[in-house]
Amino acid sequence: MPEAPIYLDHHATTPCDPRVVEKMLPYFTEHFGNAASIIHAHGRKASQAVEDARIAIARCFKVLPPEIVFTAGATESNNIALNFARGGHLITSVIEHKSIVEPAKRIGNVTWLEPDREGFIDPDAVRQAIRPDTRLVSIEAANGEIGTIQPVREIAAICRERNVAFHTDITQAAGKIDVDLGADLAGVTFASFSAHKIYGPKGIGGLFVRRGTRVEPVIIGGGQERNLRSGTVNVPGVIGMAVALQLRAEEMFAEAAKLTELRNWLWDLVLEKVPNVSVSGPRELRLPGNLNLSFARVESDALILAMKRFSLSSGSACSAGERGPSRVLTAIGLSDADAMGSIRIGLGKSNTDEHITMLVDDLARTVSRLREISAA
Ligand code: PMP
Repeated sequence: MPEAPIYLDHHATTPCDPRVVEKMLPYFTEHFGNAASIIHAHGRKASQAVEDARIAIARCFKVLPPEIVFTAGATESNNIALNFARGGHLITSVIEHKSIVEPAKRIGNVTWLEPDREGFIDPDAVRQAIRPDTRLVSIEAANGEIGTIQPVREIAAICRERNVAFHTDITQAAGKIDVDLGADLAGVTFASFSAHKIYGPKGIGGLFVRRGTRVEPVIIGGGQERNLRSGTVNVPGVIGMAVALQLRAEEMFAEAAKLTELRNWLWDLVLEKVPNVSVSGPRELRLPGNLNLSFARVESDALILAMKRFSLSSGSACSAGERGPSRVLTAIGLSDADAMGSIRIGLGKSNTDEHITMLVDDLARTVSRLREISAA
């Protein structure tokens, strides 16, 4: 039997933690009630579980339970938050996830901020872009391709001082680095998150909406989630997301230290063993498991297809299928050719020292073979 491939794409998604699945299972079968049917016991059981999960999630982010709205994932949360910009001016960056970039283009009246060569957005650029009609600033907490952790605390403070709403997409940051939306990030008005990036289930996410903020829903219907997100609440998903976040809160710091060490070792080893390779993104202020490598004279798709023992990525999974260089990599100054030769590695819980040595060996061999073919 061929060996199972080694998963190195934890920014795209993560396996569901068995402890999460275990807590979800009764809510598919035994406690299947509709959380809106509070007139009977089945509904009340589901509703109680959803509200307990809301309390647990709010505690993880140090916010109030009514400030958490359940959605089908961060794409939907981002779309709702951006609705707040309608009728006014929006400030965002060119390296945001597509679920920010695409709705922003439709809304119009946008100032697009550019990152520096390591992917950082300058808080001063945010300050300078704010106009009297600015309704919303949206800057992600961390980038899913190059791992850059943005100075959201500074940006939040500027927005607060200028009385402008601030949305941050914390999908890649939550559960990996500390995100405290309470006193620490008091200028944050909205924050989007998703369970499947943190060893929780797919198809469930949330939006933090600071108390007193009114935003138009995207999905209209039965008025669930205080009218902000109609549709029957995904009860097992909500339970799974709460358990996943709680586990992350307990295990995140130890894991971040381990993954940072593993990632830096991989970084140094690749530079030592593979000629003509460069790394995109910063060494510090970077998501623990993230590494983005660019190989001269190699096409990332060919490299990934040739390295069948590993599940690797050439960028954001949500943009997969799209041809052309990553807009994040070109925004930080890579040439189209270098961007097309880039792979993203996302280390996670299951990865070991052995995976790193196997990966570097395979990379060295495959890159050299592909370069020989392309030179021939
Ligand atoms: N924002 C960021 C930064 C992401 O990485 C992703 C997922 N790739 C999303 C939003 C979308 O999340 P979801 O899959 O939950 O819709």
